[in-house]
Amino acid sequence: MTIVVGITGGKGGTGKSTVATALACELAKEHKVLLADADVDCPDDHLLLNIKREFHSTVEQRIPKWDFDKCIKCGLCGTVCKTNAIVSIKNKNPLFIQAQCNGCGSCVLKCPVNAIGWNKKDIGTVFTGSNHGIDLLSGELKTSEPTSEFIVNALNEVIEEKKSEYDYIFIDTAAGTHCPVIAALEMCDVVYAVTEPTPLGCHDLEIILNLLKRLKIEANIVLNRSDIGDKKIIHDLAKKFDSSITAEIPYSKEIVKQYSHGEPITNSDIIKIAKELVEKIAKELVEKTAEEMIKR
Ligand code: SF4
Ligand code: SF4
Repeated sequence: MTIVVGITGGKGGTGKSTVATALACELAKEHKVLLADADVDCPDDHLLLNIKREFHSTVEQRIPKWDFDKCIKCGLCGTVCKTNAIVSIKNKNPLFIQAQCNGCGSCVLKCPVNAIGWNKKDIGTVFTGSNHGIDLLSGELKTSEPTSEFIVNALNEVIEEKKSEYDYIFIDTAAGTHCPVIAALEMCDVVYAVTEPTPLGCHDLEIILNLLKRLKIEANIVLNRSDIGDKKIIHDLAKKFDSSITAEIPYSKEIVKQYSHGEPITNSDIIKIAKELVEKIAKELVEKTAEEMIKR
């Protein structure tokens, strides 16, 4: 039995990756753990865990290819491209701006003379690595490529292949609620949304809790830097969504120090509280595993 745990957050910079790596390290003490860094525009879990990544696979995206011998220069392909990747000039061959193409296929379907076929381009890479007893999968989108969900989908495929080898799989998503985040969350059994007690944190948490409700995924809240603002706004929001605040982590210089040295959270007084958080969630996950086993 494998539990897939999403670590997400509506807002960037709340400590999502710190919580994801700390949880993965804690559970890896007694379990087989895979951590997937699905923040593919800016992956950083390997830096937090001091992991030198190794190449696993290239991610490709389909792109259109023109046969100008067949093209009658009607300009229709340019009219259906929502990303402005095709520039149509009357009586001239269309111009293709590859970097803006998301491979939707509208131009291929629209062409009346089948002058458009398919080609491929490399848009990113899946890496692997390991340290602290954790296996890491890390997706990275090439600079200036527009479609990060292709990288998340490639990560999801590798996760599906390897799933039976692990007890816990953590997916550290990007911030926000855009398509790559949804693609990552759809893999998860339970999700922890990391936030902070600020109006912006509260606003973005509400958006992610709404999304999780729609996706029918159990949502828990981790309140990071819990002593920097008004905790009540987060508690009120949690109540509104019938979600629990699993843990509150006060701001700590020690945590920042460990973070900057590429080490998971492990010791000192304040870190003890973070450790309690890790143990609490680990306990919940173990209970959930037991519940699932009883159901079966
Ligand atoms: S595949 Fe879609 S995005 Fe790409 S050029 Fe054609 S219409 Fe535009
Ligand atoms: S729709 Fe087809 S025929 Fe018309 S300009 Fe585009 S490629 Fe050429």
